[in-house]
This record gives sequence, C-alpha cells and structure tokens, in this order.
Amino acid sequence: MATHISDRVQSLSPSQTLAMSQKSNELKAQGIDVINLSVGEPDFNTPDHIKEAAKKAIDENYTFYTAVPGYLSLRKAIADKLKNENGLDYAPEQIVVSGGAKQSLCNVILSVINPGDEVIIPTPAWVSYVEMVKLAEGKNVLVPASIEQDFKVTPQQLEDAITPKTRMVLICSPSNPTGSVYTKEELQSLVNVLAKYPDILVLSDEIYEHINFTGSFTSLASFPEIADRTIIVNGVSKAYAMTGWRIGFIAAPLWVAKATNKLQSQYTSGASSVAQKAAEAAYTGSQACVEEMRVAFQRRRDLVVSLAREIPGIKVNEPQGAFYLFPEVSSYFGKKCGDKVINNAADLAMYLLEEGHVATVDGEAFCLPGYIRLSYATSDDNIREAMKRIADALAKLS
Ligand code: PMP
Ligand code: GLU
Repeated sequence: MATHISDRVQSLSPSQTLAMSQKSNELKAQGIDVINLSVGEPDFNTPDHIKEAAKKAIDENYTFYTAVPGYLSLRKAIADKLKNENGLDYAPEQIVVSGGAKQSLCNVILSVINPGDEVIIPTPAWVSYVEMVKLAEGKNVLVPASIEQDFKVTPQQLEDAITPKTRMVLICSPSNPTGSVYTKEELQSLVNVLAKYPDILVLSDEIYEHINFTGSFTSLASFPEIADRTIIVNGVSKAYAMTGWRIGFIAAPLWVAKATNKLQSQYTSGASSVAQKAAEAAYTGSQACVEEMRVAFQRRRDLVVSLAREIPGIKVNEPQGAFYLFPEVSSYFGKKCGDKVINNAADLAMYLLEEGHVATVDGEAFCLPGYIRLSYATSDDNIREAMKRIADALAKLS
C-alpha cells in the first residue's frame, strides 16, 4: 500500500530523549540490567495529596469536557502561584492550560511563527524546540554556548544573532540539558539587548523553576522592559513529579493566550479533567514536597559531579538546577575498544549502553556535538553504580 507521510512530518526527527529511553527499556525487557540516565523525569512518585485530589475528582464526576484553556479554578490557582512565587500579575484569561509544557511550547510557536520567521535558540537546547520551529516552518537560529561559558549565551552573542526577521527568542533556565541557571544580572544583560528590539517575543521555558540550587529564581516576565512580550511556559511535570499527568500552561499577553486557545480548540480541546484537578491540588496544597525533592536533587547533583570529576578525560561544570549533567567527552573520540571505534558522542552513548549498560543521550540531540547528557533523577545507588560503569567502560578505550 502506498504511504503518504507529509513533508512536515518527514522533516521532523523523532525525540531522541524518548527514543533512548525506549531502547533502554527494551534492553531491560530482555533481562539486561540497564541503568537509565537518558530520560529526564523525576523518579519520585506523585505526592499522595495530589493523587487523592484526582481520585476525588473522579468520584465527583469531573469527567466532562473542560473549558478549552482549562478549569477557571486551576487558572486562578496558577495566577495565585505566579503572584505569590514570582510577584507577577496575570488574569486567568492570560493563562492557557495544555497537555504538558511540551504542548504549551508548541502551541505558542505554532501560534506566532510564520514560515521564514527566525527563532533564536541558545544551544545546547532541549531536543524539541528546533523540531517545533520546523513544524511551524520557521528558521532556527542556533547560538552555541559551550562548557567554557557555563553553557550561557552572552548579550553580544544574542545581539549578533538578531536580524530583521527575528520573531522570537527562546530561553530555558534552569536549562535542560545543562542545568545552567542564568543569574538575575545575566538575565538583565540579555534583557538590555532585547529592550532595543520591541518586536521580538520572548518564550521563557521555566519548567525547572523549582529544581534550582542557587536559592533564587527570576522569571523573565519580571523585567518591565519585556514583560508585555514575554510568554512563560511552566507546568507540574518536574516540580511535583507529575510527568504522566500531562499538565502544563502558558502565562502570556492576552493576544497570545487567545491565539493558542483558538489553536487548542481545534486540536486537542481542554486538557484532561482529572489531571487538571490534580494540578490544582499541586498548586494550592502544601509545597513541602517540592522542597523535599529539590533537596534530594541537590544531593544527587553533588554526588554525580564529584564522581564525574574522578573520571579522566571528561569535563563537567557544576549544574545549578534541573537534574542533568552535560559532560564534554571529545577526548575519547578516535579511541577504540576491540573493533568498536568512537568517532563522536553518538558512538560514545551507544558504547556506554552496550558495554556499560548505562543509557545516556548524545549531546548532538541538543545541538551541541562533543557532549553527552546524563539525567541524575535516579537513586543515589543507581548514580554510584552508573558512574562506576561509565568509568570502567571509558577505561577500556585506548
Ligand atoms: N521543557 C523542557 C526544557 C523539558 O525538559 C521538558 C521535558 N519534560 C518539557 C519542556 C516538557 O515538559 P512536559 O512534561 O510538561 O510536557
Ligand atoms: N524533557 C525530558 C527529557 O528531556 C522528557 C522527555 C521529552 O519529553 O523529551 O528527557
């Protein structure tokens, strides 16, 4: 039978984070003891009070279609969160809830990017951004920031990337895949550049807001120079260990919220009713669980960094947030073990999986060759064992 895959879908790459995780699960199903450091999701269970709220929602028949942008009660809870935690004023009409931050990001990109519009993305960047821009037929303008600059772009780099066609800049802090966090001063210096270009929208992916080891978080929407053209993306996946519930949101200028609402009305409708009630409980209930998980991630960060620093030939920064380490591994390129030659980070990630039984992700998936990404959202024991396996596998390369 003939196949007719659209050019649009043919041009996309599959998500490599999800693909590597799938591969590691397949090996596990074959009885191989793989430690999965590929996918980025908290290993904690969703807190009990959130699960109870979902059960109650089912019993109370929160089972019908919801308003397209989400229940008003949830949008009010999000508006309160933005006020109390971030000092920001948003009306519920400016908030659109979707099936995860991934959909929220894609909604925005599809709603404001025309074919040929340029989107500036500092790299390394999360795998899905460039694919979403491709989906919108926009043009990705990648601005690389290597480990030497702690994976953060400078104001000069940002300004150099701006052209008359620049429509949007996408910033993710704390960052996936590097864990880098821009300080308030660093954000201010980027804002100073953006202040000169009033037509550029700012898409601020704040999904790792609460997994932050610096003691403070600044939302890009809190800078008055760009507040009226900044779109916040956030959600419950990371802070509340709720990846499977699929709830994310945008807080945006009204015209962006209305546009994404229209798109969502034709595409997915409102997000899951039960998951929305669970998210509402997450935002209105005790926040102690968020802090407990943050503390655990910080301890694991310290552990993984200290173990990585003992491995010869790899360079690491000290991530200040999220739960990723992004080591530079190019000193292993050209080396081999038996007839296996390591030419690049993809070969190295495959070698670590096959030889060491540790799943990681090739840095190229995040648009920066020469690196791999490790997610340390796993137990301390797994981290210790995984780093030992990585060290042993690397020691066999010569
Ligand atoms: N942004 C970043 C930077 C991410 O790492 C992820 C991955 N989960 C998302 C957005 C999407 O999150 P969600 O599970 O809410 O779709
Ligand atoms: N964001 C996570 C990651 O980077 C989850 C997988 C995905 O959505 O790509 O691993």
